[in-house]
Amino acid sequence: MPQLAFKRPVPLIVAGLAGLLIGLLAYPLLLNQVRTRVIDEQFAHLSDATAAATRMTATVHQALSALASELDLPASPPGCSKELQDRLQAFQLRTPSAEAAFRIEDNRLTCASLPSLGDNTLLPAHHSQRSDGTRLWYRLQLQQAPQGGPYTLLERQQLGVMLDPDEQFSRFFGGDVRVAVYENSPPFPTSLTVGQIPAPWLQRMPPGSREQRLQDQQSGDLLVRRLSTSGQTVILASRSAASLQAQIANGSHYLWSQALLIGLAGAILTLLVYPRQSSSRRVLERALHSGQMFLLYQPVVDLQSGQCIGAEALMRWRQQDGSTLGPDVFIPLAEQLQLSDRISDCACQIIARELPALLQRVPDFHISVNVSAQELNTFAIVQRLVELRQRLRLQPSQLIAELTESSLAEAERALPVIRQLRANGISVAIDDFGTGYCSLSYLATYPFDILKIDKSFVSAAGTDSIIGPIAEHIVTLSKSLGVAALAEGIETPEQAENFRRQGVALAQGYYFGAPMPMAQLLERVQGPAQS
Ligand code: C2E
Ligand code: CA
Ligand code: CA
Repeated sequence: MPQLAFKRPVPLIVAGLAGLLIGLLAYPLLLNQVRTRVIDEQFAHLSDATAAATRMTATVHQALSALASELDLPASPPGCSKELQDRLQAFQLRTPSAEAAFRIEDNRLTCASLPSLGDNTLLPAHHSQRSDGTRLWYRLQLQQAPQGGPYTLLERQQLGVMLDPDEQFSRFFGGDVRVAVYENSPPFPTSLTVGQIPAPWLQRMPPGSREQRLQDQQSGDLLVRRLSTSGQTVILASRSAASLQAQIANGSHYLWSQALLIGLAGAILTLLVYPRQSSSRRVLERALHSGQMFLLYQPVVDLQSGQCIGAEALMRWRQQDGSTLGPDVFIPLAEQLQLSDRISDCACQIIARELPALLQRVPDFHISVNVSAQELNTFAIVQRLVELRQRLRLQPSQLIAELTESSLAEAERALPVIRQLRANGISVAIDDFGTGYCSLSYLATYPFDILKIDKSFVSAAGTDSIIGPIAEHIVTLSKSLGVAALAEGIETPEQAENFRRQGVALAQGYYFGAPMPMAQLLERVQGPAQS
């Protein structure tokens, strides 16, 4: 296909804008991806931490229950024996989360794994009691203990365990994580809080769920709640929206460069796709409906009388810069873009507008229209030409459809289309005869009215060229088929005389007239008529 000369609407700018747009659209998508990833990671982190804390709490409770039933302190003598102290010490050593173990009698620490604690220290009233009888003290300050507190104390059957939850839990959570361990029954007392926990977050776990992940609607904070194995305690961990944002900002450092790369890829893709397809199509479509196409008419003469009896309509494209493109450039393009029917529609509209003036002077004037191979696949061309014929009130055979030999070979439905054309009083001419790949058997298959001898054979006729005799053979062939012959591309009086002598009915060529505007054709047909 010839490379098009028409100017494309600056593809670099279009590609640049497309790239920018794609890049700008990609950024929020990438950011959203980072946000989702960070939130997922944080939920997983909080979930891991609450699971570890749940396991730890369960271990303490189990150890406490096991030792309480094994020692059965209420049944043993009061106070602190050496053996009891040893056993409390052993318990503390094998229970890593326990800071100390005691005997508690009448709210006093009467025996302890750490000797400093077992000196009858009086405890305040317990804060809550579980259904299994375990009593709990929260945030207890004990001066005698190594760290001073606050501690959580669990007591069962006189056996007490002291935990340092702040120390234990801080191992699992980062500094900006808030933690609460609270009872799963109202009033939801907390055995541990790290950071400020809003009161509405401390609530019963919905029945049937072991873990809940949610993002607080108002603050945007992430929350994970997990029910302990016993089902009595809830471990809550939360991360603030601010620290989440900081992590997202951290993860989105390179997003602009990624968006830039995506935009660049988009621009390159646009540059590759845009110019060939869309701009050519748009430019051609605009030309078709904005009146840039026009017709020139080449006279067709009766060789015997020398009279101009008709004309072939040949399309031209006047571009915005004033230059004119020939059909050898835009007809193949129109075929490639499946716009051939738009070309013939345009040609028919121009003929309908321009021909009436000529028909007034020469009512039986013939007009030929070129039809492309693609149009022979549907009946749209038949309808279009029938409409033109009716509109101009043309007699049968005044309107001629020119089809090339190769288009007959290409189109699957050419035969029914040709039959319909002829049935509607439209003559059919085989154009450029001898140059296509059509076998002679086509001539028997396709009904037609005029055989146009291609100009290459016309100019070679009577010369020493190897194709010199072909024109004469075609003339003989047309006679035996009983159809009119038209010699194309007659440029000299000798050529005209040669074909006239052979009995060729019609001719066309620069000798009789190059393709010309309708105004000129009008003058041309007026001349001989007046004289
Ligand atoms: P074609 O149908 O064979 O048209 C004849 C071509 O020969 C025209 O070229 C015409 O200007 C040129 N010609 C006429 N007399 C002479 C001569 O004496 N010597 C020489 N050397 N050339 C001569 P044009 O106008 O450039 O058209 C080229 C082709 O484009 C046409 O070949 C036709 O197949 C196609 N075409 C033109 N208009 C249309 C159209 O509206 N629709 C379709 N589908 N095809 C068209
Ligand atoms: Ca033609
Ligand atoms: Ca031709």
